[in-house]
Amino acid sequence: MSDCLFCRIVTKEIPSSGVYEDDVCYAFRDINPAAPVHVLVVPKKHIGSLDEVSKADAAVVGHIMSVIPAIAASEGVAGGYRVVSNIGPRAGQSVKHLHFHILGGRDLSWPPG
Ligand code: 5GP
Ligand code: ZN
Repeated sequence: MSDCLFCRIVTKEIPSSGVYEDDVCYAFRDINPAAPVHVLVVPKKHIGSLDEVSKADAAVVGHIMSVIPAIAASEGVAGGYRVVSNIGPRAGQSVKHLHFHILGGRDLSWPPG
């Protein structure tokens, strides 16, 4: 989707600070970090949000979950971080391409706002 910001980041049409990449996903630093470590992990395939994940996408989402611990470890936050995916406007989703926030490097309160 050429009008999707994260699709354009995946293709490197828009620059980003990448921390991990493979055939299925790309991880890069959030431009407006909410914590000392704030990485976004996105599927290379355009999926609007977790609300739009089909059974056929299950392997994509599972793969992303499987690489998050290594990304967190490489960022120095193994064992103490949060993974968040905002879905829809009421949850504050601002980019309509599925992404998982990895947040860490400070104490994280609960519940979130
Ligand atoms: P959401 O609010 O949809 O859950 O998360 C979107 C995230 O994307 C926000 O944390 C925002 O700071 C980040 N973001 C928005 N535009 C860009 C961009 O152009 N580059 C990067 N690296 N992050 C972005
Ligand atoms: Zn997209």
